Amino acid sequence: MKISLNPKAKDAATRDALVAEGGFGKYYTDHMVVCEWNEKEGWSEPELKPYGPISLDPATAVFHYGQEIFEGMKAYRQPDGGIGLFRPEANARRFAKSANRLALPEMPEELFIETVETLVKQDAGWVPNKVGESLYIRPFMFATEVGLGVRPSNKALYMLIATPAGAYFDPSKAVSVWISTEYVRAAQGGTGEAKCGGNYAASLVAQKAAAKEGCDQVVWIDAKERKWIEEMGGMNLYFVKGSGTDATVVTPKLTGTLLPGITRDSILTVAKDLGYKTDEVMLSIDDWRDGVASGEITEIFACGTAAVVSPVGTAKSAMGTWVTGDGQPGKITMQIRNHLLGIQHGSISDSHSWMRKVL
Ligand SMILES: *Cc1c(COP(=O)(O)O)cnc(C)c1O
Repeated sequence: MKISLNPKAKDAATRDALVAEGGFGKYYTDHMVVCEWNEKEGWSEPELKPYGPISLDPATAVFHYGQEIFEGMKAYRQPDGGIGLFRPEANARRFAKSANRLALPEMPEELFIETVETLVKQDAGWVPNKVGESLYIRPFMFATEVGLGVRPSNKALYMLIATPAGAYFDPSKAVSVWISTEYVRAAQGGTGEAKCGGNYAASLVAQKAAAKEGCDQVVWIDAKERKWIEEMGGMNLYFVKGSGTDATVVTPKLTGTLLPGITRDSILTVAKDLGYKTDEVMLSIDDWRDGVASGEITEIFACGTAAVVSPVGTAKSAMGTWVTGDGQPGKITMQIRNHLLGIQHGSISDSHSWMRKVL
């Protein structure tokens, strides 16, 4: 890997002040990684270089046809002052799958992880220290062939940037959701399973509609029968049925249109470790409303790398409005959240070998 250090890297005091501000995505670390691909030569040697703007021809393919994918992962400070990555191999595998779907080149898993580890090591001072805080890492790749012809690009650029993420979890704030029956996120055979910018571009108008209804987030239902719950914005959903040790923790089944979240997958395991039954199910809007009315559904939460776990309270749809819980996060929601964060921060034993030590 080529290394070109940033001569204008922030001094420790300035950097620590920016990290201490918390927030998300406002400041980026001193470096980034770039790696080029072309059809003839494959992947170039990646380069770590100063963070900064890039220059592209206006006719570059990605601007016109949206051939782009990304990932989201985190580095967490450990009790010994070291740094650990949470399941980076899973991100590498998903990145390759997304690439395949968008007709972009697959980046070898080892190369992907090498770029992540190199950036995190170099910019280790940007990893916050407190539990719930982390360094958010954003790998992405896009088509760079110049020309307006519609075809899979014969050139691509992979980039990696990182931003400190504060603890923005507010336990007194359950998310309210608008169940959209107007817009569709993904259909069978489409790009729902791929982490691509296009899915997000198409989702923003629904997010606006949710805001207009006074809701924080949009919940997507399936494209065909228009009744099965899929996911929430950029997060997967979980429903807790029953309570105490008899509780079952369920999540919508991966039907090919949901994004297979790594947090979702990890929670299926964590919930079992904590003694709960788990299930992957087909759950309809009616099941949600009736389950809340009967008291069978006791807690709902969304999960993803950025927020880890967020409680869901009010659900609003064309069929009415219903509320789960009292606006406070449920017991099992908090137990699962704290357990997962404990593993990520190294305070709970990593019995599934999910953590990869970087420093
Ligand atoms: C990234 C993402 C998720 C969550 O995946 P994680 O691997 O848990 O971060 C869920 N839904 C969508 C649409 C996503 O893009």
